[in-house]
Amino acid sequence: MGERPEAQDTGCWNEDKLGVTGCKRCPELVESRNRIVDGVGPGDADLLFVGEAPGANEDDGGEPFVGRSGEVLDEHLRDVGLSRTDVRITNCVRCRPSENRDPSAKERSNCRPYLDREIAAVGPELVVALGKVPAEILLGRSVAVTAEAGEIEEIAVAGETRRVLLCLHPAATLYDPNQRDLFADTISTATEYAGDGGQSTLGEW
Ligand code: SF4
Repeated sequence: MGERPEAQDTGCWNEDKLGVTGCKRCPELVESRNRIVDGVGPGDADLLFVGEAPGANEDDGGEPFVGRSGEVLDEHLRDVGLSRTDVRITNCVRCRPSENRDPSAKERSNCRPYLDREIAAVGPELVVALGKVPAEILLGRSVAVTAEAGEIEEIAVAGETRRVLLCLHPAATLYDPNQRDLFADTISTATEYAGDGGQSTLGEW
């Protein structure tokens, strides 16, 4: 497990629940959200999936990646012998933007310390960036996600080196079924870092 980042940037971070309480850094998102949507899953997961921001379903349910995109992710996890409960899933930005607009640069920046806290606390073997925006937030550069999906890059978080696997957003497979194989191959790559959890839940579905 990595060293914890400095606390002064993350005053609303709750280490016990690995989540955020009462944050009001983004005024527009405070208005548009029903709740702060924290990560779910084991606090010591080998795989940490990172999306962009909650949508309407996530804002309603309080859990990242539910709805159709979540079903796609669940299906592909199941295909490699994992269930949602074997992995941790979170977002770069924890509050829902209105009209599903992209979070602004300021909002991404505001929420980044919480993501870093979560990465440091969980200490995953692999962080999986689900889509272009999370990849760009994590890597700090522009990403051509279709071309780069399946590649792994190292980043530093709180003084520890972390591996980031670039992956399509699950919804990309809905818009373009030809992307299903690329998404499946990338999820399969992720399982190489999943310890002995890769086949542990087969038969539970
Ligand atoms: S998006 Fe993040 S930084 Fe902004 S108000 Fe929500 S929890 Fe706070």
